[in-house]
Amino acid sequence: MNNNEVFWNNFLDVLKTKISSVSFDTWFKDTKLIKQDISHLIIQVPMTFHKKFLNDTYYDLIDEIITNITGNSFDFEFVVENQTKEEEIEQDIDIVYKHINSNLNPKYTFANFVIGESNRFAQTAAVAVAEQPGKIYNPLFIHGKSGLGKTHLMHAIGNYVTETSKKKVLYVTSEEFISDFIGINKKQDNNFDIVDHFKEKYRNIDVLLIDDIQFLGGAEKTQHEFFHTFNTLYDSNKQIIISSDRSPDDLKLLEDRLRTRFRWGLTVDIYPPNFELRCKILKDKMIGHEVANLVKEEVIEYIATNCENDVRHLEGAITRLYAYAAIMSPKEINLDFAIEALKDYIGKSIYINNNITKIQKAVADYYKITIDDLKSKKRTYNISYPRQIAIYICRMTTEETTTKIGLEFGNRDHSTVLHSYDKINNELKDNAKLKATIEEIKNTIVN
Ligand code: ADP
Ligand code: MG
Repeated sequence: MNNNEVFWNNFLDVLKTKISSVSFDTWFKDTKLIKQDISHLIIQVPMTFHKKFLNDTYYDLIDEIITNITGNSFDFEFVVENQTKEEEIEQDIDIVYKHINSNLNPKYTFANFVIGESNRFAQTAAVAVAEQPGKIYNPLFIHGKSGLGKTHLMHAIGNYVTETSKKKVLYVTSEEFISDFIGINKKQDNNFDIVDHFKEKYRNIDVLLIDDIQFLGGAEKTQHEFFHTFNTLYDSNKQIIISSDRSPDDLKLLEDRLRTRFRWGLTVDIYPPNFELRCKILKDKMIGHEVANLVKEEVIEYIATNCENDVRHLEGAITRLYAYAAIMSPKEINLDFAIEALKDYIGKSIYINNNITKIQKAVADYYKITIDDLKSKKRTYNISYPRQIAIYICRMTTEETTTKIGLEFGNRDHSTVLHSYDKINNELKDNAKLKATIEEIKNTIVN
C-alpha cells in the first residue's frame, strides 16, 4: 500500500463508524485519494453525482474527520475518474433534464433541510426511502401542518433518487393527478392514446411522489384511478410517497380502502419547530447573503420568538429583513432595525396580547415570587435574576419602549432595562437551560 492508500483507509475506517452502511457503500466505497500536498487533497469518485453529493452533504464531515486524524486542515477536490470537462458538463445537463421530466425542484435537497427534534423522524425515514426505494417503508406517508417541510422532503427524496440512480421519479400534487385524470376522461371516447399516456405516465415509474393527498377527497372517480395506480406500483415494489396535512385516519373524505393502504407502510409526522430549531433554520437560511454577517444574534432570537408557527413564516421574515437592509444599508442589523423592518410582518396580535403585566405574572409564578417583588428595590439574586428575565421577555415580545418597561419595573431607568436585556441575551448564548426556561415561561403567558 502506498501512503495515499494508508491515509485514505484510515479515514474510511473512522468514517464507517459515523454513517450508515448504506450511505457508506453508496458514497464512499469506490473513492480513492489520488494526490495530497500540505493543504490540498484530491479524491477520485466514480460519477459526477458523487462529486456533487460529497461536496453538498459530506464536506464538513470529511473535513472534521481528516482534521481529527492529521491535526491539519485541508481543502478537498473531488474528481471523476477518466472524465473530461465536457463529459462532466454533459452529465450535469443530463441530470437537469431528469429533474424536469420528474417535475422536481432541485432547490429542495437533504443538504439544505435543517433537522431538529420535530422533524428528525420524518427526515430519517425520507433518507432511508431515498437510499432504498421500494425496499423498506412503502408507502411512506408524511403528514403535518402547512409550511413544515413536507414538500421539501418529498423533492429531496426525488432529487436524491434521480441523482444517484437510473430510477424514474415522478412528483405530482394531487391536484395535478386529478387534472390529468379529468383530461383523459374528456378525451377518452375518441382518443385511446391519451389513456395510454396517463397509464404510462403514472404506472411506468419507480418512485411516485404525490403531494397534498387531502385534495383527492371528494373526487371519487379519481380516487378509484389512484387506487389502481397505487396497487400497480405497490405490487411491483415501486416506491410510493404521500404527503398530507392530516393523518390517514383523519382523511375522512378518502375511501376506506385507500386509507387502509396508506397504513401499510410507515406514517411519519412533522411537528412545528421549537425555538431552537427555528433559530437553526434562520441561521442556515441567512448565511451566504452579502449582509449576513451584519445580523446580530438578538435578531435571530427576535424572529424565532415571534414567528412560531411554521418555516414559511421564518423565510418571509428573512426576505423582508434583507429587502429592508438593501434599501437602508445599515451598519449592523440589530434588534431595533429588525423591529422596524418587520413591523408590518410580525403579528401585531402577539404584541397586543403580550403586555408587561402578563409577562410579570408569568415570571413571578414561575419563580414563586410576586409581581411586587419584581417591581421592588430588592437586589437579592432570587429576585433580581427573575427580574432580568422578565425585562428580557418584555423587550423581546412587546413593542414597549425601554423607558416604559423601566417604569413598569419599579421606576427603573432605561439603561437598567438595557443592561438586564444584554445580560440575559449574553447568557443565552451558551446556556441552553436558560433558553428552555424562557421558552417555558413564554408558553405560560396567558393570552
Ligand atoms: P409544506 O409542504 O409542509 O407545506 P414546505 O416543504 O413547502 O412545507 O416548506 C415551506 C418552506 O419552508 C420551504 O421553502 C422549505 O424549503 C422550508 N423548510 C421547511 N422545513 C425546513 C427545514 N427543516 N429546513 C430548511 N427549510 C425548511
Ligand atoms: Mg407542501
